[in-house]
Amino acid sequence: MMETVDCNFYDGLMSESAPLSAVEISGLVKTYRGSAGRPPQEALKGINLNIPRGSIFGLLGPNGAGKSTLINILAGLVVKTSGTTKIWGYEVEESPRMARSAIGVVPQELNLDVFFTPRALLDMQAGLYGVPKRERRTDELLEAVGLTSYANAYARTLSGGMRRRLMVAKALVHTPPVLVLDEPTAGVDVEFRQTLWAYVRKLNAAGTTIVLTTHYLEEAQALCDRIAIMNRGEVIVNDTTASLLRRLDKKRLTITLDRDMPDLPENMRTQGWERLAPRRLSLSYRPSQAAVAALLRVVQVNGFVIADLTTEETTLEDIFLQLTHRQEPELKILAQL
Ligand code: ADP
Ligand code: MG
Repeated sequence: MMETVDCNFYDGLMSESAPLSAVEISGLVKTYRGSAGRPPQEALKGINLNIPRGSIFGLLGPNGAGKSTLINILAGLVVKTSGTTKIWGYEVEESPRMARSAIGVVPQELNLDVFFTPRALLDMQAGLYGVPKRERRTDELLEAVGLTSYANAYARTLSGGMRRRLMVAKALVHTPPVLVLDEPTAGVDVEFRQTLWAYVRKLNAAGTTIVLTTHYLEEAQALCDRIAIMNRGEVIVNDTTASLLRRLDKKRLTITLDRDMPDLPENMRTQGWERLAPRRLSLSYRPSQAAVAALLRVVQVNGFVIADLTTEETTLEDIFLQLTHRQEPELKILAQL
C-alpha cells in the first residue's frame, strides 16, 4: 500500500479539514508479555481519551500508571494489544507514515547517538522525515533550545539537560502539528524548564497541540488547559484545569470544644458538621461561599465554647493522592469534591 506523505500540516492546521481531536484513543489495551517467570503486565486497561486540537494537555499519574506506554504507542515504539489510536485522524498502525509525520515525540529515556554533533543529528532527522534542505529549520531549533553555541560539539560532551534539549529539537524537525513530551523536565535544570515552557507556549500559540506527562502538578496547573490523571492503566479523571481547580474550592475546618458534646444537634447536622470525637467536630466548606465566622456561630448558639480551631486547604496534590491511592473508593471521593 502506498501512502503519500505531506509534511505540510500547518497549511491545514486551522482549516475545516483539520480534525477536532489531535489524538483520539479508544479502547486501548496494552498487555506486556511476562518474561523470566514474571506474570503479564496489563499496562493499559481500555483507555478512551480525546486530546482536543490546539490544547496543552497534561497527562499525570504516579510511576507505573501507563503514561509512557501510551505515549510510546503514539510514537509507534510499542505495539498495542487492542483498540485504536488516531493521530491527526490517522490510525497509527493502519497509516503509520501519516501518523508518524503528524507527531513529534520526546521520549522519557535519553536515546541519542552521541557520536554526532547536534547540528548533524538534526540534519539527519530532517532527512529521515524527508524535509527538503531549504525547509530545514536546524538553526532556528538549535536557537530555540539554547544549543546554538554547542551546534558543532559532540553530543557525548553534552550534559544530561542539554541532551534533553536536543531531543526536543529533534522531535520538531518535521514541524509536526502534535508534540508529545514524556517527563520533559525530569532531571533538567530550572533554567531550561523556564525556557522549555516558554517555547512550548509559543508553539502552542502558533497552533501546535502539546501533550506532556509530568510529576509536577504545579507545572501542569500553570501550563495545561486540560488534565487527565492516570492510575494503574486507567484514566480516572479527564477535565479542564479550570474545573479541576474549582474542585479545590474546599477547606476542612476542625474544632475542639471546651467540653463533650454528647450528640450532634440537628441545626449542626444540617450544616454538614461531623462529630469526630466527643470534643472534636469537623466541617467541609467552600471558602468562596461561606465565611468561617458564620459557620462557627451555630456552635455558640448551641452553648459551646471553641477551645481550638484548625483549617486545611485541599490542593491539587491532595486530589491527585486521593484519586490515585485506592484505600478509599474513588467515587466517594469524587462525589465529595
Ligand atoms: P509510567 O510512564 O506512567 O510510569 P509505564 O508505561 O512506564 O508507566 O509502565 C506501566 C506498567 O507497564 C508498569 O507496571 C511497568 O512495569 C510496565 N511496563 C512498562 N514497560 C514494560 C516493558 N517493556 N515490559 C514489561 N512491562 C513493562
Ligand atoms: Mg513514564
